[in-house]
Amino acid sequence: MILDCAIVGGGPAGLTAGLYTTRGGLENVTMYEKGMPGGQITQSSEIENYPGVTGEITGMDLMMPWPEQCQKFGLKHDMVEVTRITKEGDVFTIHKGDGSSDQAHSVIVGTGSSPRRAGFKGEDEFFGKGVSTCATCDGFFYKGKEVAVIGGGDTALEEALYLAKICAKVYLIHRRDTFRAAPNTVKRVENTENIELVVNSTPDEVYGDAMGVTGVRVINTNGETREIEVPGVFTFVGNDVNNQVLIQEDGSFLCDVNEQGQVMVNLSMKTSVPGLFATGDMRVEAPKQVVSAAGDGAVAALSAISYVDELLN
Ligand code: FAD
Ligand code: NAP
Repeated sequence: MILDCAIVGGGPAGLTAGLYTTRGGLENVTMYEKGMPGGQITQSSEIENYPGVTGEITGMDLMMPWPEQCQKFGLKHDMVEVTRITKEGDVFTIHKGDGSSDQAHSVIVGTGSSPRRAGFKGEDEFFGKGVSTCATCDGFFYKGKEVAVIGGGDTALEEALYLAKICAKVYLIHRRDTFRAAPNTVKRVENTENIELVVNSTPDEVYGDAMGVTGVRVINTNGETREIEVPGVFTFVGNDVNNQVLIQEDGSFLCDVNEQGQVMVNLSMKTSVPGLFATGDMRVEAPKQVVSAAGDGAVAALSAISYVDELLN
């Protein structure tokens, strides 16, 4: 059987695509998600900008009901990693990590993005032993202790605020003295007593011993170094696009991508390959928001429905 639509990735983009394709009449739709559905927002300790959500809720709370809503309309879920998507003639092949493959008339990709490494000494060595990219997952280990947060965007500042509620003190280390984060978030950070801003400072090395991290050395733009003794260092320095599933055997991409690896799409989420749509954080000029990823999923689904309709009728 050839699927009407294969959806790769089960974050806000993929799940919304699943809802709209199935509810919009496509019969055989499978969503491939390598982990639990919900995407990266499930790591967020607080979401306050999803329309209609007024209370204090976590990203996990927000995403919990989405898979069930899709399943109600017939979306199938295959919990597997997709290794590659190829196309021959009008048919796509979804190559899976378990060695098997499926075929589909259309594909919606929403594999999102992943935390970027900051590149300081000790980052890889101590990853999971004091260096973390998830405050919700690991913050509790540092209850009552001091931690450092690296970065100056929305993620770093929001997670610093979260950690400040659990930890004795948070050192927010940023390489400039102005922040990318929303002004309201910056204000909240500045007004939080137990957050110390360490600006114009770049982490040089995270060091420690067999038990894990014991500190981070930062270098100020004026050349001075400072040792900050903390058992936990959280890095939030941006994300890289997860476009690996589009890489072909010869190293080329299945469809057009830009220099940053973001997938080129038009306003209908169509890529340069007919029947292939890209959504959410992985596409060019993505606002990197749950609401826009969900919007992309809906748009891509409507485009896929028209495409399959024309192809088969
Ligand atoms: P993702 O959420 O990244 O989902 C992609 C999914 O694809 C993942 O579940 C992944 O497991 C799966 N996948 C990847 N590769 C494969 C593969 N090869 N095979 C199978 N499955 C695969 N946005 C807001 O609007 N408000 C906020 O307050 C906010 N806070 C944030 C806080 C944090 C800590 C982070 C990290 C992000 C935050 N964001 C926030 C951004 C938001 O989470 C993203 O913009 C959004 O999740 C993007 O959705 P997506 O579906 O494109 O991708
Ligand atoms: P981001 O906006 O790209 O910010 C990354 C931060 O890390 C920047 O301040 C950058 O410094 C710093 N940085 C980058 N590389 C570094 C390095 N090697 N060493 C030290 N510092 C480094 O990433 P993000 O905060 O993860 O946000 C990603 C996207 O998701 C954004 O579009 C954001 O708006 C969105 N998001 C939104 C919300 C929300 O709406 N509430 C929450 C989270 C994320 P410079 O500033 O000097 O470049």
